[in-house]
Amino acid sequence: MEMKTVIIRNATIYTGEQVLNQGSLIISGGKIQGLFPDEPVPVQDCHVIDATGLLAIPGLIDLHFHGYGEFAITETTALSRLLVSQGVTGFLPTLMTGNPEFVISALHLLAATHGAGDGARILGINLEGPFLNPEQSGAQPRHCLMKPDPREASRLLEAGGNMVRLMTIAPELPGALDIIEFLHLNGVIPAAGHIQATCAEMLAAEDRGLCHVTHLFNRSGSFHHREPGLIGWALTRGQVTVELIPEHHHLHPLAVELTLRCKSPDRVILVSDNVPHNLRDCVLSENGAVMAPDRTLLGSAQSLLQGVFWLVDTLGIDLGFGLRLASLNPARLLGIENRKGSLEPGKDADLVLLRGRTPVLTMVEGKMVYDQLSAR
Ligand SMILES: [Zn+2]
Repeated sequence: MEMKTVIIRNATIYTGEQVLNQGSLIISGGKIQGLFPDEPVPVQDCHVIDATGLLAIPGLIDLHFHGYGEFAITETTALSRLLVSQGVTGFLPTLMTGNPEFVISALHLLAATHGAGDGARILGINLEGPFLNPEQSGAQPRHCLMKPDPREASRLLEAGGNMVRLMTIAPELPGALDIIEFLHLNGVIPAAGHIQATCAEMLAAEDRGLCHVTHLFNRSGSFHHREPGLIGWALTRGQVTVELIPEHHHLHPLAVELTLRCKSPDRVILVSDNVPHNLRDCVLSENGAVMAPDRTLLGSAQSLLQGVFWLVDTLGIDLGFGLRLASLNPARLLGIENRKGSLEPGKDADLVLLRGRTPVLTMVEGKMVYDQLSAR
């Protein structure tokens, strides 16, 4: 069915590059066709949305998301619908390390979705493990971690049917460098995380194609003046991109500020690291962290958009800049910035209208998938 042309008028538009007050967007064929600083010429037979008082922002992209609330990560239909109500239009379902057969069957299930969904798009699959350092397992079940094994790595990629885009690995484990190179050559972004690597081990991994860090500072080893480790490496290497969990149980705001001062602005990516609340017997803390009974952090229950506002509130960063860390930058890491990540003519119409801080309308590829505006 051909979708009607949609005009969104009178919005404050954060394009990813600039802010347009009282701007307009023309959307048709799933794409943004036009972006105007004022009223566009009316098109015949179109649907006009008056966005007076609302902000239009690029749909957020969450690279690290394990599920939410009651929903396990394989419940993609429910999760895709839920995410669009939180301003996320694309995500990587992220599998924690688990029983190998369970992980393989989850990969088969996720691969079978082919990215489709009636809400946020699945842009690939993220594997957090299983080749992680047992000393830094955190929320990952220790007994399921494995020594780097090329056969297991290919088995995982195959089960994911070419949809695996990211894999977290500890480069200091014996055999990890070969896996890193294998991932890199197979279009999977190798990411360092749950590690205790030295700076020298990180440099060796970089030579083999590693240049992304899973939730920097959380399970990243420590920074020492004679052994700066992963943290020193990540903050000083220009090509390296880092994930941050913008949530106060995971990071002090100054750890975020330190990162923003060290890194070029396009190398920092915000992720939710959301986990379902009903994981084992975890507890949900006040303000959005999910913890094991011994207070080990399992992940967060705060949405990515709330994380952006947390940075705006605690560090006083510009909202447009904060949004870019959760839209254009993740799109760039995935190599899809030519079609996603910002509001520009020619790109997919993935956008969110906010009233204050609350999403009231979300579009994915031009399709209205969440609408509280006309419901009123
Ligand atoms: Zn995680």
